[in-house]
Amino acid sequence: MAVPSTPSDSAATGAILTIDLQAIRDNYRRLGARLSGAECAAVVKADGYGLGAADICNALASEGCRAFFVAHPAEALELRTALGPQPDIYILNGVYPGAEEACARAGLIAVANSTEQLLAWQAASRRHGPLPVAIQVDSGMSRLGMAPSEVRAIAPSAFDGLDLRLVMSHLACADEAQNPINGMQRSAFEELRRLLPDAPASLANSSGIFLGTDFQYDLVRPGAALYGVNPTPGQDNPMRQVVGLQAKVIQTRELAIDIGIGYGHAYRTTTPLRTATIAIGYADGWPRRAGAAAWLDGIRLPFAGRVSMDSIVLDISALPPGRPVAGELVELIGPHQTVDDLAAIAGTIGYEVLTGLGGRFHRILENGVVDRDMTAKAWGSAR
Ligand SMILES: *Cc1c(COP(=O)(O)O)cnc(C)c1O
Repeated sequence: MAVPSTPSDSAATGAILTIDLQAIRDNYRRLGARLSGAECAAVVKADGYGLGAADICNALASEGCRAFFVAHPAEALELRTALGPQPDIYILNGVYPGAEEACARAGLIAVANSTEQLLAWQAASRRHGPLPVAIQVDSGMSRLGMAPSEVRAIAPSAFDGLDLRLVMSHLACADEAQNPINGMQRSAFEELRRLLPDAPASLANSSGIFLGTDFQYDLVRPGAALYGVNPTPGQDNPMRQVVGLQAKVIQTRELAIDIGIGYGHAYRTTTPLRTATIAIGYADGWPRRAGAAAWLDGIRLPFAGRVSMDSIVLDISALPPGRPVAGELVELIGPHQTVDDLAAIAGTIGYEVLTGLGGRFHRILENGVVDRDMTAKAWGSAR
């Protein structure tokens, strides 16, 4: 029998992911409060860091957000279909060869990362034009964007027939406020901008916003902070938590002393132990290396043994007898264990945890847009 890609029946699924759209809106406001005049866009690549790009965009539209960034042309085309013609949708990786026609027709904004991409978009602009374009320059990350030599070599005619909307670059070390690379990239960005036609500028991702107004320019591009990941590692998280994850108890066991648990018997009981097996595993996107804990009624329930594909065993000795019962939910991401906590335990970053959370969960969108007319009006007033 076919399994739906987004299971909708909470009784039939192992775990429940809640996404608080009001928290995302509040985070957008909190970031906005740090700006002095810059426009706040939203990065919604990888389906809104795994949380659902279309719903997030609609929620942020009601906060006045008008510009969205995705990575791939395919993501941009899908988002255009979901959101309609109004919002600005930028393609960070640029338009891949052969995708120009579809992207031009969909009114998407290509980020040109190379002269090659720029000229291919210009050719499309002759047929569909004038097409909007952003130029990404490499100010020192050596990942995407035109190298300084390339920017210097670019002919002014390369912009003919195009509508230059943004000159942008990306910071490699923005999450380290003291790192001198940030200032160096900023100076390099300033220099490269001067070689290009005059256009609004953009440099800051989430963490970049916290480097100060010098880094904010005309438009900022936060992603992770909107979704509750701490943009200032090492300091208190100024953002609200957005995601909750709960998993279902399948069964409980009473184990004697010196019993092996799970694959490889990686855990062996040293006392009699009560355990509960919960219905989540690495196939759901839970990092296999994260030997974390679950929580019930504020009580910590450590993992016992390895994370399996579809299940995890918990040590529930700290709970009163009779708890939990089958079907009861335990907290895996929530007030006791945030996305960043989990990332630290797994030796990764919150970004990877969020984008890894799979399509196997029952998803609950909290505080979604209730008034569709309001959203329509918000889009309508976009320009
Ligand atoms: C992903 C990305 C962002 C958003 O970064 P966050 O750290 O999630 O805020 C901004 N700009 C570019 C070019 C990106 O690739």
